[in-house]
Formats: sequence, C-alpha cells, structure tokens
Amino acid sequence: MIKFRPHHFLCTLSFEGKGYSPEFVKNYFEIKNSLTPETVIEIVLDTADSICQPCPNRQGLRCATEEKVLALDANHAKILGVSGGEQLSWGEALDKIATKMTLEDFHRVCAPCGWKELGVCEKTLRDLKNRTSTKPRK
Ligand code: SF4
Repeated sequence: MIKFRPHHFLCTLSFEGKGYSPEFVKNYFEIKNSLTPETVIEIVLDTADSICQPCPNRQGLRCATEEKVLALDANHAKILGVSGGEQLSWGEALDKIATKMTLEDFHRVCAPCGWKELGVCEKTLRDLKNRTSTKPRK
C-alpha cells in the first residue's frame, strides 16, 4: 500500500516533475500516475513515506530537513483531520484538500516550503476548489 505523509497530499496533486534527483522524480511520477480515486493509501506521521524513498535527503526514516518536514506534516494533518495509521482512498484525500484546506491555511502551513514560491501549489488548490464547488450534487 502507498504510504503518505499528510503534507504530500497537496504536493502530489501539484507535482509536475520538479524534485530532488532523477530517481526521486521517476518514483514520484510512478506513484502519482498510479493513483485513482479508489486507490487506498495509508497515512504515516513522523516517518518517511513512499514518496520519500529515493530522495537524496532521506536519512533512514528521517529527513535531512526533519524539523521543517515534521512541522509541515503536523499542520497539514491537523487541517485535513487525518492521523497516523489511518487508511483512506485517494478520492477521500482529494475531498479533504478541497473542503478543509483554505487558501489562507495553505499560505500559512506551506510557508516553510521552498517549492511554494513557484505558485503551482496555490493554482492547483484554487483549481481543485473551483472544480469541486461547481460539481453537480446528486
Ligand atoms: S508548497 Fe510545498 S509543502 Fe505545500 S503543497 Fe506545495 S510542494 Fe507541498
């Protein structure tokens, strides 16, 4: 089963090929392309996940920028309402991002991330919210 740190929900949705090494990017595309709304994922907290595996910054189960990554995870987990060990579908994860993560929250919790200034994640979040709010209700 694919394991996800909570802050990687939105990272994955926004991922378009930038990363820490060719191996990291390849693994990330494989994971992203394998996800369907029905795919079941498992949340991990305070430890490396499936996306982290080939990352050159990974040090065993930890990260070279551990303090920053732990803060990202804790803040995203709180907003999304997920906890370590929990299993949910990728579709449910997307719903949580769309309904629980406000743009204000995003700017606050993702502030420490170096990728944020590219603007891709903000656009992704805006687009997801727009799609979700215009989706016809059954
Ligand atoms: S700003 Fe950074 S942590 Fe936040 S979603 Fe984008 S890549 Fe992930």
